[in-house]
Amino acid sequence: MRQDTAEACSTSAGSPPIEMTSVDLISDESLEEFASKVKEKIPDPWINTTCNNTEIRMELWDSNYSIPKYILHVDSGLQFSLHVYNWLLPDIHPLYTTHRRRMDSARVVDFLEAIRDGKYAICEGLRQDEHVQTIAKDPDDASHTSFSNSDVIRHSIPNKIEMDSNFGVLVVFRCVDCELLLGRNGDEEHVICDPCKKLQKNILVQQNRKKRSSSAPAKAKAPLTACSSEKLRATVVATRLECKQLEDKIKNLQNKIEKSAVSISEPLEKDLMTIMSGQNLDSMPHMKFFWEQQIHLLKTKKMGRRYHPQMIRFALSIHCKSPSAYRELRDSGALILPSERVLRDYKNYFRPGAGIIKENIEELKEQASKFTGIQKYVAVVMDEMKIQENLVFDKTSGELIGFIDLGDPLTTYANVDEDTPIASHALAFLVRGLCTNLKHVAAYYFTGNVTSFQLLPLFWKVVGVLETTVKLWVIAAVNDGASPNRKFFALHSKLGGTLPDGLVYKTPNLFFLARMIYFFADVPHLIKTARNCLYNSGSGSCSRYMWNDGHYLLFRHIADLFHHDQQYALHQLPKLTLDHVLLTGYSKMKVS
Ligand SMILES: [Zn+2]
Repeated sequence: MRQDTAEACSTSAGSPPIEMTSVDLISDESLEEFASKVKEKIPDPWINTTCNNTEIRMELWDSNYSIPKYILHVDSGLQFSLHVYNWLLPDIHPLYTTHRRRMDSARVVDFLEAIRDGKYAICEGLRQDEHVQTIAKDPDDASHTSFSNSDVIRHSIPNKIEMDSNFGVLVVFRCVDCELLLGRNGDEEHVICDPCKKLQKNILVQQNRKKRSSSAPAKAKAPLTACSSEKLRATVVATRLECKQLEDKIKNLQNKIEKSAVSISEPLEKDLMTIMSGQNLDSMPHMKFFWEQQIHLLKTKKMGRRYHPQMIRFALSIHCKSPSAYRELRDSGALILPSERVLRDYKNYFRPGAGIIKENIEELKEQASKFTGIQKYVAVVMDEMKIQENLVFDKTSGELIGFIDLGDPLTTYANVDEDTPIASHALAFLVRGLCTNLKHVAAYYFTGNVTSFQLLPLFWKVVGVLETTVKLWVIAAVNDGASPNRKFFALHSKLGGTLPDGLVYKTPNLFFLARMIYFFADVPHLIKTARNCLYNSGSGSCSRYMWNDGHYLLFRHIADLFHHDQQYALHQLPKLTLDHVLLTGYSKMKVS
């Protein structure tokens, strides 16, 4: 495209065909006429170097360079082209368009004078820096058949050779579309045409972008061969930093292990590894859950541990079976388990209303199957007891954990819900053989404060099961004679068996009407109640002063009797001991 020699230029390879219709033919003079006129009028320092039938060539030289500053060609059709330091003015340049690219003798002098007098400035091209120099291309670069407008072209202008100077060159970097000649516009420091300016801007933007990306570390999978040295350096720096952080982390973890690790025996370790490597854990959801919890607990701080309810239930069941085994398991550090203090908080929580358990009844039935005749008679003992601290009831099944094996823990521990009221008592229905040693708890009910109305259906339900399923004949109901229990007896007054003073002592058996169920108050209970009443009469809590037939009934009488008897070596009341007299809180009385 570009020619850097005057000879090549003369063919005007780059000039477009002239649109004859649009050309204003000012004159129809021939090249010969034009040449003769120009020869006469050509202004200094323009010189006419070639003049023949096909072209006229005029040059203007600058003393500094060894190529002409301007070359004006006019061909046989009077078309013209202009070179600036051998760089052909682009076809769209205004110098061409205003003259419609035709020259004639009338205008040529003005044209030449205007250029000579410096009405136009030469574009100085892109600012020169290392980057521009490296990306610049030579106009005769064989690897490029054509240039795009994003290319930077090296425009070399050889210096004039002096006697004792060496070859030198002025290099200007231009855009392919450089306009070269610009109308003078004030006193700009750096004369640059619009296409060159635009290219310079683009290069700067690209450079910045590249700089940014090259200073960022390479991505993990980026090929290192494609990375610039800057990028490689950044990558190494980032990798080193990462290494350092990871090493610190490892160190921390090792310190932690050394500090708070618990050593375990080799077989245990092997077992743990096998289990924790996750083999077949999916087929054992309970175990999987357990180990997941263990791993989770390992990660949490000792003070902030929260145990899943299922873990607590599991811990409770172990603890109830053997607290010492539990302690051993926990203190050995093999497992992370709740402390005993935590377990205590969870005891006695269960849902009231657990009832007759099928397995339990089956067992009773088996025992009862051996009985014949008189052996089949039983009494049902109802007793309400405060739940012992070491017994834990499973709230869904009502099973007493610690006595009953858990069997499948998944079922035992399934369904955890909050909001369960706390029951304070367990109401037990005990089956006692009258002529056998049978002692069996037929059912548990978990209650807060049981009333006679609640007691009635429960009792009859138990009787029903005993009579129909187990085939035992219930003929007595025994309880401690507490107020709800007495009321429970009284509820049967309509069924019969009432003493003249209104005391209900028996009821027909609803499941076998020919037989009666007799009501008893438990004797030890009665004595205990009587003793407590007496104890509080005039002493103790002083809640009453009992009397009968005008005489006081006071506990002090018994105490005095005991103390009086103690004065003699031979006791008249050998069975009465200090324990009988010194009930809890009695010591105050003794001091006085
Ligand atoms: Zn330019």
